[in-house]
Amino acid sequence: MAEQLITWAWRAYRWGIDLVLPPQCVGCGKVGLWLCPACAQQIPLWEAPQCPRCGRPWEGEELCTVCRESPLQVAPIRSTFLFQAEIRDVMHALKYRGGYQVIRSLTPRMVEAWQRAEFVTDLLVPVPLHPRREAKRGYNQANLLACALGEALDVPVASRLLRRTRATVSQTKLNRKQRRENVSGAFTYPDDILLDDMHLTLVDDVATTGATLEACADVLLAHGAERVSAFTLARAP
Ligand SMILES: [Zn+2]
Ligand SMILES: [Zn+2]
Repeated sequence: MAEQLITWAWRAYRWGIDLVLPPQCVGCGKVGLWLCPACAQQIPLWEAPQCPRCGRPWEGEELCTVCRESPLQVAPIRSTFLFQAEIRDVMHALKYRGGYQVIRSLTPRMVEAWQRAEFVTDLLVPVPLHPRREAKRGYNQANLLACALGEALDVPVASRLLRRTRATVSQTKLNRKQRRENVSGAFTYPDDILLDDMHLTLVDDVATTGATLEACADVLLAHGAERVSAFTLARAP
């Protein structure tokens, strides 16, 4: 009950903020939405030079140092944009100000990046949020991104395949090793569905060290998936 009250108070607060400070396009300042389609079209796609395996900025023909020393199972990781100022504002709106409408402007760009990367998959699997956090936010942004992408590409989306059973602390101040420990074992697989020979693609808003994606991949590979790759809206440098 107390949790429901907090959720409603949070939504009312957000609604109040939108009333006083209405959404404005992060590109052109147009009032009424967080990112207009024209400005979304102006943001450069994240292409080269990047590591062919994990997608982090990297120059050279070989894999990056991290992929050579301790490669992740989830590969390749591809992203639509590099995480820079405009993307940070869009992401903030998407996650904290109920701005899921930005997905409509971003979908054509995600499709473009997907096609350029020549991605092929059997199923899209959004990275789940902890149910408590999802209830508070009202949605899981990774799921909305996966659904928009799946619809545009005509690829099925398994929204409830993975569950986050453990709430984890924010990863922003943790290093690579701490991130791995923080998310290890945080995800479970609810059913006895076997993923024999399937190539699955995890979808999330941002890829940083890949620790969260890897924790999800651990579970999917243990249930028979042949390959797990990932596609995110943004790639942190
Ligand atoms: Zn604009
Ligand atoms: Zn790499």
